[in-house]
Amino acid sequence: MVDILIATGNSHKFREIKSIMGDFAGLNIVCLDKSFQIEIVEDGETYEENAKIKTEGYVKFLDENPGLKSELNLSYIVSEDSGLEVDCLNGTPGIFTARYAGENASDTDNINALLNAMKSKKNRHAKFVCLTCMYDVKKHSFHYFRGELNGLISKEVSGAKGFGYDPIFFVPEFNKTVAQIDASEKNKISHRSIAFRMLAETIKESGPTYESKTYKRI
Ligand code: IMP
Repeated sequence: MVDILIATGNSHKFREIKSIMGDFAGLNIVCLDKSFQIEIVEDGETYEENAKIKTEGYVKFLDENPGLKSELNLSYIVSEDSGLEVDCLNGTPGIFTARYAGENASDTDNINALLNAMKSKKNRHAKFVCLTCMYDVKKHSFHYFRGELNGLISKEVSGAKGFGYDPIFFVPEFNKTVAQIDASEKNKISHRSIAFRMLAETIKESGPTYESKTYKRI
């Protein structure tokens, strides 16, 4: 078994990632419970920088807790940073997606703020981006994988599944918002699924070198 720590405090993300990685035999997905969550200041300027800040935070935490580190016996430590890029808003909110309506904004606050900002906009195209930063414990090296999901921002909320902006992210090929499709369907097409499947495939191949890859789903 290859033990992989998914270092996120976001239970929605963790559930999706565990399910996506469940398709790959031999990979054991580990999470730390709330008592091990650490404070991380995401002050990077890109998804890559923020994902690396999160991964490095957990690498440092485990180095400072050698008992836990040896008990977990991890091969990889992985974090992700994700966001929404809206064409008519010049690609924003991007890395500020979680805080679009302000610090500690709820999903509903963020959705309402975005719908308001796009009230008179005709071009509704947007994409979700997920960027993973994987630390190889043995090689002490960092590797990045990126996934994107294209869609349209709807004019109103539809559906109750998923999280974040899912109720207003419309996927034309399903004729539904992401919040109207089952988790298993979301996990076949999502930005997170693309990035984590590439990561899992890279681990499975376990070649001598890793390449950072970008795969865009049109
Ligand atoms: P962060 O990666 O913790 O900075 O947060 C990214 C934010 O983007 C989340 O809080 C969500 O609001 C949004 N987001 C990222 N991925 C998804 C998704 O799959 N569905 C809906 N919203 C998402």
